[in-house]
Amino acid sequence: MAHEPQTPLAYRAPAQQPDDDGGPRRDAHDEKSGRKRRLEYPPAPEPLPVPVMDNHTHLDFRDGLVRVDVHQAMDAAEAVGVTGAVQVGCDVASARFTIAAIEAEPRLLGAVALHPNDAARLTERGEFEDAFAQIAELARHPRVRAVGETGLDYFRTQDEAGHAAQQESFRRHIRLARELGTALQIHDRDAHDDVVRILLEEAADGGLPPHVVFHCFSGGPDLARTCAEHGWHMSFAGPVTFKANDELREALRIAPAELLLVETDAPFLTPHPHRGRPNAPYLIPLTLRGMAETRGDDVAALARAVSENTARVYGAF
Ligand SMILES: [Zn+2]
Ligand SMILES: [Zn+2]
Repeated sequence: MAHEPQTPLAYRAPAQQPDDDGGPRRDAHDEKSGRKRRLEYPPAPEPLPVPVMDNHTHLDFRDGLVRVDVHQAMDAAEAVGVTGAVQVGCDVASARFTIAAIEAEPRLLGAVALHPNDAARLTERGEFEDAFAQIAELARHPRVRAVGETGLDYFRTQDEAGHAAQQESFRRHIRLARELGTALQIHDRDAHDDVVRILLEEAADGGLPPHVVFHCFSGGPDLARTCAEHGWHMSFAGPVTFKANDELREALRIAPAELLLVETDAPFLTPHPHRGRPNAPYLIPLTLRGMAETRGDDVAALARAVSENTARVYGAF
């Protein structure tokens, strides 16, 4: 039977827009062009032949014209073969949302941390230590399986003091994940060299957490070779399907299958052909199919490999 593309029911816009609940939300304008984005959720893609997990999503970030709860989000995802997701809390409030979500929804695991851009702001205000202590406490929840997203963001934070604060925060999060024995999810934006340098320094000084994941991997073949050499995972998101990103696809082609993961980073980074519209875990099949095409892999075989990797990194749901 032919697949009929339709937006999942819970994601269809109602006649009236709901009141804003004041929580975090994606900007209604495109980051690059500044143009107003199209805010309707895209139709659901054809289901995957083998189920996979979305290993990085932000279900607390609102986008689009509807409010979708975590159960509806996972129902829509499961209908296309996305049977689980790692919900990422990237400040204290978002980490608390994450704990509530993983306790309410068995198809979710959690990751918590202070995002590098927040780490810089908190340090400036003298509030980092208190916030980090709260994250470290929440990270002990048995279904929090990663510390993240942490790392370096030199795109949004451009001052030297901010970079220093991010580096210190990154080291603290690496040590926390090592102590807890969880995976580490790294946010690396325009900062490949310093991310790799700090990982190697921490590896030499006490060791790294059991699994290292570059979330929304954004490097070229050089970074992919470095990751392969050290056994670090590369998690690909929507940008791997964007026309201009040949370097990223070159990295994907040379990455070993046993280190590949897939994610949405929803509601951001919506894959082609729906770039700019809201993103959600049910759109993973578009990215996974794009990855298979780039690598010349069979879709089912790639999905199976990614699923095995996800289970190894985050454990059982
Ligand atoms: Zn990120
Ligand atoms: Zn993220």
